[in-house]
Amino acid sequence: MTHKLLVEGVSRTFPGVRGGAPVLALTTTDIAVAENDFITVLGPSGCGKSTLLRIVAGLDRPTTGRVLLDGRPVTGPGPERGMVFQSYTLFPWLTVAENIAYGLTERGVPAAAARETVAHYVDRMGLRGFERHWPKQLSGGMQQRTAIARALANDPAILLLDEPFGALDNQTRALMQELLLGIWERDRKTVLFVTHDIEEAIFLASRVLVMSARPGRIKAELPVELDHPRSYRVKTTPAFTELKARLTEEIRADAMLAADV
Ligand code: ADP
Ligand code: MG
Repeated sequence: MTHKLLVEGVSRTFPGVRGGAPVLALTTTDIAVAENDFITVLGPSGCGKSTLLRIVAGLDRPTTGRVLLDGRPVTGPGPERGMVFQSYTLFPWLTVAENIAYGLTERGVPAAAARETVAHYVDRMGLRGFERHWPKQLSGGMQQRTAIARALANDPAILLLDEPFGALDNQTRALMQELLLGIWERDRKTVLFVTHDIEEAIFLASRVLVMSARPGRIKAELPVELDHPRSYRVKTTPAFTELKARLTEEIRADAMLAADV
């Protein structure tokens, strides 16, 4: 079987600060992601989730190992990996439409084609009427919808999301989960989504990877065989509750360890 993404023996040690001991943030990690899979990485705070995602994005280099996307080693950031962070990272000096068009403009996509792509994602993400707004005029949920639209507009080979809904209130967060899953159900992108929220990890995923407390490693893996399309209603089904109970056990001990750091 060929894989879309391979993380092979990746670890990351950060040098100690002010003469302190080096920090092993991520122990040797192997992950294989099939095309069109929606993988969530679940783990307690500080376990190395962002470190892992930044390495896959090419924003950081692993200390050991390598990352292959479509068989090619990742050596730096690139438009084929769309990244969405927790904190809002829109360009404040660009409008919603200009933010979404950013990567297209950078790559020299003709203006007419770029406008069409922007209009498509404005529609998909429910941003119509807000094209000329500035990021600071938007709610948190809308800013994240814009950030996701900006990532998708480049038609990335893989979408990487680092706790993208972590700063949103519960209501908005649930809506955003459904919106993102709806897009995946239609377009079947390959997605790697990092979260510390158990329900979110299950609801979105075709497979959940559970990370241990620092130094992070993948300690368990759980396929999620809930039907698609999924709506929020699935969260109260016995099958969902059962998965939630199993994952709660998996991360409980590690969350307690993490709370001490
Ligand atoms: P998570 O995203 O799961 O909360 P991170 O990947 O951000 O975890 O961090 C994992 C560990 O690595 C933490 O202990 C953090 O303090 C440490 N760390 C992350 N980035 C750096 C860095 N640039 N320099 C030193 N330590 C870092
Ligand atoms: Mg993080």
